[in-house]
Amino acid sequence: MFKLLPLIAAMSFATSITSASAGSVAAPYEIATWRGFRAAAVSYTFDDDLANQYAKAVPMFDAKGFKLTLFTVTKWLPGGDWTPVQNAAAHGHEIASHTVTHPHLGAETAEQVSNELANSRIAIESNVPGQKGLTLAYPYCEPPVDFSIVSSNYIAARGCSGRLVPANPPDFLNISSFVCGSLGLSGEQMNSRADAADAANAWCVYLIHAIDDDKGYSPIPSAELQATLDHMSASPEKFWVETFGNVVRYIRERNAASVTETFATDSRIVVSLTDDLDNSIYNYPVTLRRPLPVGWTSASVTQNGKPVAARVIPMSAVDVVTFDAIPNGGEIVILKGARSIAPR
Ligand SMILES: [Zn+2]
Repeated sequence: MFKLLPLIAAMSFATSITSASAGSVAAPYEIATWRGFRAAAVSYTFDDDLANQYAKAVPMFDAKGFKLTLFTVTKWLPGGDWTPVQNAAAHGHEIASHTVTHPHLGAETAEQVSNELANSRIAIESNVPGQKGLTLAYPYCEPPVDFSIVSSNYIAARGCSGRLVPANPPDFLNISSFVCGSLGLSGEQMNSRADAADAANAWCVYLIHAIDDDKGYSPIPSAELQATLDHMSASPEKFWVETFGNVVRYIRERNAASVTETFATDSRIVVSLTDDLDNSIYNYPVTLRRPLPVGWTSASVTQNGKPVAARVIPMSAVDVVTFDAIPNGGEIVILKGARSIAPR
């Protein structure tokens, strides 16, 4: 079942945010805590460029249509070969930074930290087409002393304190994750953490290193990893499996979004979805919904003249239309009936 957050819950989110960029969602619209109004977000992150991450995990995720995050140590790529990384990126996976040389950042000088963080991001941006290098994973889960060097290079960073992340993370520069494998969670324990995220409307981030016979930290058998993917795909209404960076983008956009209805007739509604974030980074779709107006039995939705993912979901009292749209991505039009609109 899709969970219906009462409007009052959405409003309490908005008022709990003190940032100047907090948006507002006008009734009767609601914005999803997680994309598609799913109950939980789940991110699989992989550190240290171990061979089976590319040879086994990427094809496994591709078969499910799930996206993962590869935290790359840019100097550790075997033979300096970016080809496997580029191939993974071409399949929609996130390539993010695990620094240049994997140091203990807490023991480095500010200049060393600055070089590790900036140069790994630049290496990703220049070697992987389309990747911005938006996020960072701290080697040994150790942040640097000065977090401002992190925030000047990345929108978020991953630690590993072994907790679920609430829907509004307390600290984007130290997002918690669970170490998995022989020194952490088994596949079964991974599934139970995801179930706990479902119950708490939280975000579950996994940290994985070696798979099977990789010569690396805390190996997990590929069969156990596969079993967790089967657990997620068995409940697509519960689990939103998405990259670390895309979940961060979604949270920031959801919290900064302003939604208003600007025009309505009995067959056509125009909606504005805006925010004050940087459009070159924050262009990921968020999910909105509203009740179908009286007398409507179906609807189609466009943004900027192009059809967007939309569906009508029967609810006990009144059907709702749910759709994805990009903040600052142009005018949204909801049309009575299922007639599709040709792209312009
Ligand atoms: Zn590492």
